[in-house]
Amino acid sequence: MPEAADRYYRPSNTAPISGIFTMLTVGGLAAVVMGPIYALVSFYDPFVVFSLFGALSIGALGGSAVDYGARVGKVRNRVVVHGVSIVVGLFLVYVSWVAYIGLLTGSIILSPQIIWQVIQIIAQQGVWEFNGEEPLGTELYVIWVCEAVMICGLVIVSGYRKRPPYCEACGRWSEAMGLEVRVSSECRDELVQVLETERYSALMEFRSEIIHDSDYIQLTPYQCPGCDESCFLSGWRVITEINKQGAWETRTLDLFKDMIVPREIIDGLTALPQEVPEDDVGDPNEDDYASAESEAVDD
Ligand SMILES: [Zn+2]
Repeated sequence: MPEAADRYYRPSNTAPISGIFTMLTVGGLAAVVMGPIYALVSFYDPFVVFSLFGALSIGALGGSAVDYGARVGKVRNRVVVHGVSIVVGLFLVYVSWVAYIGLLTGSIILSPQIIWQVIQIIAQQGVWEFNGEEPLGTELYVIWVCEAVMICGLVIVSGYRKRPPYCEACGRWSEAMGLEVRVSSECRDELVQVLETERYSALMEFRSEIIHDSDYIQLTPYQCPGCDESCFLSGWRVITEINKQGAWETRTLDLFKDMIVPREIIDGLTALPQEVPEDDVGDPNEDDYASAESEAVDD
């Protein structure tokens, strides 16, 4: 019997050189475009708020560029992606300063050493006022360090996103199959056990349980577009209830992620019709349920 841990997808941690180059290129291009835009906003911003929002935005967009590069470049190593994010974040801060000093002095200075000297002069003289106060010296350095940390931090956070498993045999990311299977929430512990221990014949029993719209398990299958060998299943518990404010709220809780399953199991799960609960009349998600139900039956 296989170990439970072996039943789940684990990334190979591969980071192709071409993938790292792709991330740096896409991230670098994004920095070259966004740095000057941010400098313009900071330079003409009468309120500090726009600059703050600008710093958050370019950090998030810079991270999205890294994430895109990692996907296209097939990078499966989280540490490498974070490392590239730091480089892109620092480059973004550098480009922003080049553009800002360009607006301030009318000349483009690329040497980091001279940029640092100009920054020291700006810190001495002050550069903007807020609420009638003009920060100088240490105050400005603290603000700039916070700004740089915020930009780099957001690049790191948004640079690595959860992705479906990667098929090493075909060299492709798997894709969601566009199918959603619902299973009664009552079965959740047993369901995970049955899947982990590959007692697939027991699965069909779960399908006869009543599925309530307010609390059910949603199974989402993923498959490699190139082969039938790499199939994965993730499961969430979806709970809809009235929150403290008296409004309907839907929460999802991870049940299991990226379990390796045979293709036949996904076909089996999606082919069976589901029981319709008779007591769920007037539920807020009734329409959603009805459409999901008809899809499942059509398949
Ligand atoms: Zn494949």
